[in-house]
Amino acid sequence: MLERSIQLGSNEGWPNESHAPAGSVQNTDDAGTRFCEVPLLCTCNKDRPARSPDNEMEFSTTENRKMIAQAVRDLVEREVRPNLMDWDERQYLPIDLFKQHFGPAGMLGVLVPEEYGGAGLGYHEYVDTIVEVARVCGSVGLSVAAHNSLCTGHILYFANEEQKRKWLPKLATGQWLGAWGLTEAGTGSDAMRMATTARKEGDEWVLNGTKNWITHGISADVMVVMARTGELLDSRGMTAFVVERGTPGFSGGKKENKLGMRASETAEVIFQDCRIPAGNVLGEVGQGFQQAMKVLDGGRISIAALALGIAKGAFDAAVAYSKERHQFGKPIADFQAINFKLADMATKIEAAELLIRQASDLKNKGLRMTKESAMAKYYASEVAVQVSTDAVQVFGGYGYTKDFPVEKFYRDSKLCTIGEGTSEIQKLVISRQILR
Ligand SMILES: Cc1cc2nc3c(=O)[nH]c(=O)nc-3n(C[C@H](O)[C@H](O)[C@H](O)COP(=O)(O)OP(=O)(O)OC[C@H]3O[C@@H](n4cnc5c(N)ncnc54)[C@H](O)[C@@H]3O)c2cc1C
Repeated sequence: MLERSIQLGSNEGWPNESHAPAGSVQNTDDAGTRFCEVPLLCTCNKDRPARSPDNEMEFSTTENRKMIAQAVRDLVEREVRPNLMDWDERQYLPIDLFKQHFGPAGMLGVLVPEEYGGAGLGYHEYVDTIVEVARVCGSVGLSVAAHNSLCTGHILYFANEEQKRKWLPKLATGQWLGAWGLTEAGTGSDAMRMATTARKEGDEWVLNGTKNWITHGISADVMVVMARTGELLDSRGMTAFVVERGTPGFSGGKKENKLGMRASETAEVIFQDCRIPAGNVLGEVGQGFQQAMKVLDGGRISIAALALGIAKGAFDAAVAYSKERHQFGKPIADFQAINFKLADMATKIEAAELLIRQASDLKNKGLRMTKESAMAKYYASEVAVQVSTDAVQVFGGYGYTKDFPVEKFYRDSKLCTIGEGTSEIQKLVISRQILR
């Protein structure tokens, strides 16, 4: 039997003494060996899978992954489930949830190496984390995904050592919430035509322009923003900058009133003669667009995982309801029209998960996965919409009310076919890769 305990601060005697931060849940097995359960990510864990050869896909569920998923599930059931409809109604971003619970649990730096305060885990664990959050609440799942893979991911992949040490620990531990800005009012899919500019003046850059649809646009403590530093339509004419909250000329604007994902803040961000130090450029000047496209390759796995979680949540609710609801003297699950629907839903969910695991596996191995992540994002997003629509149908009239969970999955799911590249853009990416 595993014995669970709460670590109160001392790391003495742990396999990795730099880890096991205060508040983590730790276990002792029968042999007395100690290892971390939460934060999700820890080299203390004894059964991390060995790397497979590059030509083999590795995605079987390990004991470690099961423990991580269970720990996230427990936390989300406790801290999110009781509040989700209230947050949805009020369009309330639960910042305390991120700072007080998700950060200390390691959920805001899943992919960040431990030396920068993160969990140091791989994409499979990251997918598990997003799925477990989204199967309860898509909005909170979207915020976790955007924080981890967009803002934090961009800094992780393209910052220099000094910049990583400055920003990653705050982001990975939840001290700071992150945002990432590429989209503008006139340029969504066609991001290369962005109008926001950055002009060099001495040792500073001066930013002017407005970004739209930015997750955490008002509440983020720090933002990675892409701005034009060269000619329009020159793919090497954009640069990525880090802007900290409180910098004069950097402010949040209009908050969107959305169909779904209502507890995830989406807002305008305005730059008005905003001066930032030259040391806040990520990578080389002129590489911002290429960097953004690479960040989105990984981000697509995030949104695919978000879609998978929403589909799983809707499916679980539909299965349970189909066994409880009686019509014509028997459970509706006994009608073939309903149980065939459940069979279709289950098959699509498993197919989506296989595509996501394939992309995650390539990402873990550092291999190119542009086509695979686009396929995973495209398919899983469409599946989330189909499955949550079917779930509402299984619930009948009750599914159309806010007393049951499926109407929220239905509303939340649609974002997945739009954010971080629409389904149409995913098909463009996939076909370009096929026809290269
Ligand atoms: C809730 C939410 C959160 C978001 N968070 C962020 C964020 O944190 N940071 C950020 O930078 N952005 C964010 N976005 C923006 C998001 O990435 C864009 O909405 C998305 O890329 C689509 O752009 P658009 O809305 O301008 O649609 P458009 O590009 O105007 O597309 C409209 C329609 O035309 C289609 N279309 C466009 N071009 C083509 C083409 N070449 N071929 C075929 N069809 C085409 C599209 O598929 C779509 O159906 C967010 C959006 C939402 C809704």
